[in-house]
Amino acid sequence: MKPAPFIYLAPKSTEEALEFLDLHQDDVRVLAGGQSLVPMLNFRLIRFDYLLDINGIPELSYIRSEHERLHIGATTRYRTIEVNRLIQAHAPLLSKATHFVAHLPVRTRGTIGGSLAHADPAAEYPALMLVLNATMVVKSKSHTSEIAADDFFGGLFESKLSAGDLLVEIQIPHAKPTQGFGFKEYSRRTGDLALVGVAVMLDIANHVITDARIALLGLSGGVQRLLEAENHLIGKKVNEELIEHASDFAMNVSAQSDLHGTDALRKHLAKVLTKDALIEACQ
Ligand code: FAD
Repeated sequence: MKPAPFIYLAPKSTEEALEFLDLHQDDVRVLAGGQSLVPMLNFRLIRFDYLLDINGIPELSYIRSEHERLHIGATTRYRTIEVNRLIQAHAPLLSKATHFVAHLPVRTRGTIGGSLAHADPAAEYPALMLVLNATMVVKSKSHTSEIAADDFFGGLFESKLSAGDLLVEIQIPHAKPTQGFGFKEYSRRTGDLALVGVAVMLDIANHVITDARIALLGLSGGVQRLLEAENHLIGKKVNEELIEHASDFAMNVSAQSDLHGTDALRKHLAKVLTKDALIEACQ
């Protein structure tokens, strides 16, 4: 199918884009990599009057390291992130897990901002942002806000972005030498959206876990942190029994049944993958 007609807008600066967003509010949609938006348009799942293409705004695509934080522009492509040296050095979990996103052609077009704005519960990036304690910088014509990843995502395909908002930057604190990371996911075929995935950060000093962040993707109700498991781990000495017990909490999450798998399969995968990701983070 072909999309319903729309007027194509191609701003050359963030300021110009924000003017258009302010003017057209609910009648305009942002086009980034188009890897989710264009299929939705072609299937006529959505329609609107104006398409705002932000690909011609050079100032929205960059990766910088400043004040112990990575600053990533919203239209930076997955593939750029996957191979970037600064990301490899300061957010190794992000470069490793980006390889699990779709296929190379999708990673060459899709953007970090598009993935986070879309907030697909089965996508890798929302879970990674939770674990990496990221901050989203959101601009509208009248204000700029910084939103912690913990507050940014809602339920299925829900984020804190409102009409008139543009996600412009993602900030990620540099990884500390005491932190270890793990990422595991299971999908039926390479490149498919994951049935279930788990991202983990553990901060360990003298064999004791001082901080833990665990996020699950692909389960019902949107991307979510496994807070019970995190609390179980913090303050304890790492050993096999502790990791086994912590991963048991993944069985308590609510999971959906669909044509890809039952809720029982998803819960089983959540436990097994959590255990494997915790072991990887300890190593
Ligand atoms: P677009 O499709 O352009 O936009 C998505 C939504 O975000 C739209 O509503 C748009 O208006 C909004 N938006 C975009 N940028 C901004 C911004 N800066 N501010 C405010 N709103 C904005 N994703 C995964 O995570 N994992 C996978 O395994 C995976 N597999 C895929 C396989 C295939 C075959 C395909 C086609 C897609 C797959 N995807 C997967 C989806 C893909 O990652 C998309 O790229 C991503 O979801 C959206 O990023 P985008 O840049 O393409 O955004």
